[in-house]
Amino acid sequence: MRIVALAGGIGGARFLRGLREAIGPEDEITVIGNTGDDIHLYGLKVCPDLDTVMYTLGGGIHEEQGWGRADETWSIKAEMKEYGVGPEWFGLGDRDFATHLVRSQMLTAGYTLSQVTEALCVRWKPGVRLLPMSDDRVETHVRITDGDGTRAVHFQEYWVRLHAAVDAEAIIPVGADTAKPAPGVLEALAAADVILFPPSNPVVSIGTILAVPGIRAAVAAASAPVVGLSPIIGGAPVRGMADKVLVAVGVEATAEAVALDYGSELLDGWLVDTADEAAVAAVEAGGIACRAVPLLMTDVATTAEMARAALALAEQVRG
Ligand code: GDP
Ligand code: CA
Repeated sequence: MRIVALAGGIGGARFLRGLREAIGPEDEITVIGNTGDDIHLYGLKVCPDLDTVMYTLGGGIHEEQGWGRADETWSIKAEMKEYGVGPEWFGLGDRDFATHLVRSQMLTAGYTLSQVTEALCVRWKPGVRLLPMSDDRVETHVRITDGDGTRAVHFQEYWVRLHAAVDAEAIIPVGADTAKPAPGVLEALAAADVILFPPSNPVVSIGTILAVPGIRAAVAAASAPVVGLSPIIGGAPVRGMADKVLVAVGVEATAEAVALDYGSELLDGWLVDTADEAAVAAVEAGGIACRAVPLLMTDVATTAEMARAALALAEQVRG
C-alpha cells in the first residue's frame, strides 16, 4: 500500500513514527513536508519541519522538547552572542548547525531542496520518502498589530519570539502562489492508496502545503481516500498555539470546525478524540465519515493504534 502523508513538525513527526510502526513491510510512506516555516539565519537555510520529521524518524530528536537534536550543546550560539549577533530567541544547537551547514552548502552548489533533503536522509534513514512540498522558497508571515503598528513578521518570530501572544490578523504564505510542487509530490498523491493528514497544525502546516498551487487540487482529485486526525482535543490544541492561527482564518478551535474547514472536497474521513465524541454527528453531517478514538500520542504504541484507526477508516470510506 502506498501511503502519502502531509506533515508539519512535531505533530506530524510523532504521528509518522506511529504510522511506520503500524504498516507492513510491503507498505511505503511518502511524506510531503511543510517548508513554510523555513527561515534563513546566519546565511543558513533552516527547515524546522523537515528536520523535525527527519530527526524524529531517524532517532536523533530531542524527545522531551520535540524539536532539535538530542544531547545538544550550544557553543556556537554562545559565541554568536559574544559578537552581539542574534537572534537569541531561535534555538540552533551545535549538532543542528551541521545539518543547516550541509543543506546550505548543497543549495549554494546548485542542488534543489528535494535533492538536499534526500541527501540528509541518507544519514537519518527515516524509513519514509521525505519530500519538501516545494523546492521554491515559501515563508509564512503573520500580520500583527502591536506598539510598533501593523506589520508582517516571519512565522518563526511570531511563534518563537512572540509566543503567539499577539493576535494574528492574517497568515500569509509568502511565495506560495508562485511555488511549484516539488518533483514527485503530485505523482505521489495521484498514485496513493491512502492519503493522511496527521494531527498537524491545520493552518500553518497542512494549510501551507495545500496553498502550493496544484497540491490542494491533487488531494481533492486523488482516487485514494483522504483521512485526517484532529490536532484539537476538547476545544484546544494538544500542544502549542494552533488556536491562535485558527482565529486568524476564522475557524473555531474545535475538532469539528477544523474538519468542516477542510471540507468534504478534501476529507473523506476524520478522527476526533473520544473526548470529542459529541462532534461526530456534526462532522458526518458535513459529508465526512467520522470516528472517535483516543488521539493522544503518549507513546509509539498508542500512536500506532491511532494510525491503524486512520487506515481502517480509509478502508471503510474507500468508494
Ligand atoms: P509543528 O510544526 O511543530 O507545530 O507541528 P505540527 O504542525 O505537525 O503539529 C502541531 C499540532 O500537533 C498542534 O496543533 C497540536 O495540537 C498537535 N498535537 C501535538 N501532540 C498531539 C497529540 O498527542 N495528539 C493530537 N491529536 N494532536 C497533537
Ligand atoms: Ca512547523
